[in-house]
Amino acid sequence: MSSDKSAILIVDDISSNIQVLANALQADHRIKVATNGDRALEICRSETPPDLILLDIMMPDMDGYEVCRKLKSDAETSSIPIIFVTALSEVNDEEKGLNLGAVDYITKPFHLPIVKIRVRNHLNLKLKTDLLEEMSHIDGLTHIANRRNFDEVMEKEARRIARIPQPISLIMLDIDFFKAFNDNYGHGLGDDCLVQVASAMREVIKRPHDLLARYGGEEFAVILPETGLEGALKVAEELRRAVEMLGFSHAFSEVADHVTISLGVASNEFDKQASIEKLLKQADQALYKAKESGRNQVAH
Ligand code: GH3
Ligand code: MG
Ligand code: MG
Repeated sequence: MSSDKSAILIVDDISSNIQVLANALQADHRIKVATNGDRALEICRSETPPDLILLDIMMPDMDGYEVCRKLKSDAETSSIPIIFVTALSEVNDEEKGLNLGAVDYITKPFHLPIVKIRVRNHLNLKLKTDLLEEMSHIDGLTHIANRRNFDEVMEKEARRIARIPQPISLIMLDIDFFKAFNDNYGHGLGDDCLVQVASAMREVIKRPHDLLARYGGEEFAVILPETGLEGALKVAEELRRAVEMLGFSHAFSEVADHVTISLGVASNEFDKQASIEKLLKQADQALYKAKESGRNQVAH
């Protein structure tokens, strides 16, 4: 974000109406304006959508209700809070606006100090909702994606490859002899180790559509869209090396004197019909194979 100030989009077909609200709000917020519905939608769908919208109802072409309906029906824009600001003061109008998903309804003529406070309150709520949403997708210990996040992305990818068949690969990986690590060094250092292993792997998984997640306990998973087997094996080996290079002391490992991981790779490259669940199972079986074959290695 270019500034700490939240951005408010004011939508009204009459410029003088916009001016009144902008004057009142510009000290505390960044102001964006639109004088018609199409322009408002465009701004909301852009790279820098507003944090809140003040929306007039009576506008030519597309009215405020329609703008609201469109924003709420699109997952990309549905979470932007909308406050109707309107001369329509019938309870029916207000009921309709709130039913469409607006968080508030302010009738003209309005008292500017009240508008300011309502805007502030709704912005605070929005910030908290966003934070909760973000936290619910992040693992509290390692700060990488959590299991819920992983499951959601897997579902999305399953739908995507069902629509357009394309390569995808998965990696399942697990820390070697981690029970012995915990038993001998204690849970505190075990947690430190998990944090460091995750952050070393995060340096490897850098493409925007790839996902590194904590799958559970000392097990991690990686989703690599648009990646075939060869590419996935390369990434897996880079992950193995990155953890090995950490050199995190582990005197109770039977395969090294430092912490290592075993990895299983699966790809749909040679089995285009493979479901994503099947790939997950295959990656898990490959991980088991890597463990059986001596750990600290990649198998597929
Ligand atoms: P292997 O090489 O076959 O994977 O053996 P392992 O000892 O790593 O496997 P096992 O599944 O027997 O042990 C996993 C251990 O990981 C159990 C527990 O002590 C530890 N562990 C799981 N989650 C956490 C965690 O959140 N924090 C800490 N400190 N340890 C954890
Ligand atoms: Mg109007
Ligand atoms: Mg383990």
